[in-house]
Amino acid sequence: MATNRTFTMIKPDAVADGHIGNILKDIIAGGFKIVAMKYTKLSPEKAGEFYAVHAERPFYGELCEFMSSGPIVAAILEKDNAVADFRTLIGATNPAQAAEGTIRKKYAKSIGENAVHGSDSDENAAIESAFHFAGTEIFS
Ligand code: ADP
Repeated sequence: MATNRTFTMIKPDAVADGHIGNILKDIIAGGFKIVAMKYTKLSPEKAGEFYAVHAERPFYGELCEFMSSGPIVAAILEKDNAVADFRTLIGATNPAQAAEGTIRKKYAKSIGENAVHGSDSDENAAIESAFHFAGTEIFS
């Protein structure tokens, strides 16, 4: 069910630094089931589309450039209370403020290059999942 799913990306910084395996291990240890996953790369246009909600923010250009700078891992995760629990697992946007043990605390470099994305609502989880995956690529 949509309310039990969230969408994530392991961002280019964490992929380049070799953290894919450790981040997936943390996600699974956190009780999430991976129901869709792909290793891919966003074009600058696709990154702009994905983050369109931030178009007016001063960091939008930087964000789109960063998110299209290298490969990412995109995934759909399933768990009760997936959206909120995943935001807890990844920690605050700024790793300097993220709680000990969270994915961003362990692997993020900065507020911009912060290792992982996690949807902020059930509605956005569904939109973001559909942005990256066809129904035939999701296995629950
Ligand atoms: P979150 O990813 O924690 O939901 P936001 O939705 O506020 O955070 O921002 C989306 C993404 O934009 C962040 O994950 C980060 O990569 C980038 N970002 C947010 N704030 C800044 C900032 N002040 N400077 C640079 N990049 C930022």
